[in-house]
Amino acid sequence: MMKLRLNTSVEIKGSLQDVPAPAAVRIPIQKKHKPVVKKKQIVGRGQVIAENPSKGAFNLGFVHASIDGMVEDILPDAILIGPIPAPKEGEEAAVPARPEPCADLDTLSGEELCRKLLELGVDTSRMHATRTLVVNGLNPEPGVIVSEQLLKDAQATLKAGIQLIEKALKPGTIKLVVASGKQITVHGCTPVNASDAYPATIDALVVYAATGAERPDNVDVISVAELYSVGRVAETKLPLTETVVAIGEKVFRVPVGMKVQALLDAVGVPYGTDLKIALGGPMRGEAIFDLSVGVPKGCTAVTLVPEGLYPMVQPNPCINCGECVLVCPARIQPGMLSRFAEFNMFENARSQHVGACLECGMCTFVCPAQRPVMQYLLLAKGQLATQDDMVSTCRLQD
Ligand code: SF4
Ligand code: SF4
Repeated sequence: MMKLRLNTSVEIKGSLQDVPAPAAVRIPIQKKHKPVVKKKQIVGRGQVIAENPSKGAFNLGFVHASIDGMVEDILPDAILIGPIPAPKEGEEAAVPARPEPCADLDTLSGEELCRKLLELGVDTSRMHATRTLVVNGLNPEPGVIVSEQLLKDAQATLKAGIQLIEKALKPGTIKLVVASGKQITVHGCTPVNASDAYPATIDALVVYAATGAERPDNVDVISVAELYSVGRVAETKLPLTETVVAIGEKVFRVPVGMKVQALLDAVGVPYGTDLKIALGGPMRGEAIFDLSVGVPKGCTAVTLVPEGLYPMVQPNPCINCGECVLVCPARIQPGMLSRFAEFNMFENARSQHVGACLECGMCTFVCPAQRPVMQYLLLAKGQLATQDDMVSTCRLQD
């Protein structure tokens, strides 16, 4: 078989750009989040709109309004904020309350600082104290140039992020992994060169490149985009209300929850029925069919693919060709696992290590039968996680 090389590193030409604040946003929330606002409430940019009630310093960050506005609706998966209505005659205009910069950031350290970062919207669930920290500086997927753009344009912010992480986590070492042949570093990091050929840019493989060990216990990994988020909080001392998104060859700082249609209009990217649109990159992104979806925090790309460029994946039968096995970096058997998932045999998938899947999408990419191979594996992982949650809830109630 011809060896696939999907290189991710590019020469960055443009600069990081800002997108103007939209009039309305649809801010995604997760199951763990508990909304703390009511319909018709006036909110200011940076105000908490959903908390994570779970205890612990290493967790999912709180959610904040990314614009001044009025809460229009609270859905299970999103909070909608629209413009503040004009005051009625004789009434004063509503003034949204914006949070003050957080002075505690200068004085806190350790777990107290991590808790504060959670409240400011930073996701600390992948961080732990005193471990080696690997910063994945490789672009996450082919065509998603976020990491290299930030390494080029945001050195001061990345340095501020490293300094805050040093205070919060006191890591033993911080390693920055960048593409082979590139001489890039960030203050406080030890540079390591690694292959930029997808899927080598996936976190688990980057950790292997940085440490020489598979799934080591004492190592955390975050992306450059995540480090940048910490740096923005360190610089502004304000809650995180933006995410950095690549669209084609340009990279934008986007208010969290900005609707995809409004974003494409604002940056002048044409779209129509001849294009498929995904949140995320071409390998791991999720296709969307409704352009009023809001860009989630942590989203690194909006990808537009011409209709017909790639054949449509469908639940076609597996022809057992083994192509997916040859490209799988997790060394599992995607074809067989996808068949287990297809026929609801989730426990068989568990016993054959579906949990080891790195969710790189290579199996779907090479499958000659155009099966949604990775998507079947995601289904199995999701079903097993739900089952395990139910079992642990029952045990807690016993
Ligand atoms: S997505 Fe497919 S190729 Fe990638 S690790 Fe999972 S099973 Fe292997
Ligand atoms: S590549 Fe597709 S058809 Fe071939 S074994 Fe894997 S899932 Fe089956």
